[in-house]
Amino acid sequence: METSVKVFTQISEFFDYLGADQAASITEVLAPATLDSDPKFPFICSRHYADLIKKSAEPEALMREVLPLMAEREKVPGFVDDPVGDLPAGKSDCVIQKYDKRALVVSTATCGMRCRFCFRKNYPFQNIPDIAGHVGNWLDTHTDIWEVILSGGDPLTLGPGEFRDLVETIAVHGSVTTLRIHTRLPVIRPDIAMQHFELLRELPARFECVLVSHVDHPDELDEESQMVFGHLRFSGWTLLNQSVLLKGVNDNAATLEKLSHKLFTQGVLPYYLHQLDHANGVAHFEVDDDRARELIAEIRTRLPGYLVPKLVREIAGEKSKTPI
Ligand code: SF4
Repeated sequence: METSVKVFTQISEFFDYLGADQAASITEVLAPATLDSDPKFPFICSRHYADLIKKSAEPEALMREVLPLMAEREKVPGFVDDPVGDLPAGKSDCVIQKYDKRALVVSTATCGMRCRFCFRKNYPFQNIPDIAGHVGNWLDTHTDIWEVILSGGDPLTLGPGEFRDLVETIAVHGSVTTLRIHTRLPVIRPDIAMQHFELLRELPARFECVLVSHVDHPDELDEESQMVFGHLRFSGWTLLNQSVLLKGVNDNAATLEKLSHKLFTQGVLPYYLHQLDHANGVAHFEVDDDRARELIAEIRTRLPGYLVPKLVREIAGEKSKTPI
């Protein structure tokens, strides 16, 4: 099916685009009765990601990342709205500080798609009309901050003007020497990531620049992500990746091994493999710690050390990620 739509917000449209064969093969794995057509955390999927699903050798794995299931409605003990303690670490409407001398900006509520396992799926996002001014005011009184992390939502979904204002405001604060961007756009909306390219290319002259992508499965990487990463690397960015260990998506050694290899061919080093954050509505993605350790032990025998991500969990209130 041809379409000019860039983002699907209706599951029916998304299935139409995938085509009857693809939708049928996937629904064999994910029974239609388990789909939630009216999820609290809305369905959003980019056409680019739908194209990745079409091309994937494991379409059901990618599909699990994006399709809302009734399982998300289950209340599971230990799963909460704020699993990583964002709210108690909030310093203003959009700044979170958990770690000494580093601050995270919740830049926007918008993402290129809604990942079903998102740790912020219940986060009370606010629209901050003048985010640059807001962050600038906060940094004016926090002159010990040396690293600012732009997170969200996805910071690269900000419009070009808003994004430029934000990074230029940060750049006038002399204590901030490192800018880190957490983004999933290179694999969800590479077209939007590239619209910031002129600015991204300038930034390494002003900061140490680190881009942490979020890629969970090797089939999320293609020639378009390669182009985004290639441009950034050429401009002097350090490129790292974090993944979440997800049942039915990447919880086997062959997939994790392939992911590390493929990231490396695109110039990105695997950094963290996160154990699932226990947000309400994500329990069906859980892989237990023993299995997670087995997987890391197995890929350690197959890969050089620099391609083995650190297996970690974020525990609310802790001063660093916790190795598992
Ligand atoms: S892109 Fe990141 S913040 Fe947005 S839904 Fe996915 S995991 Fe959550």
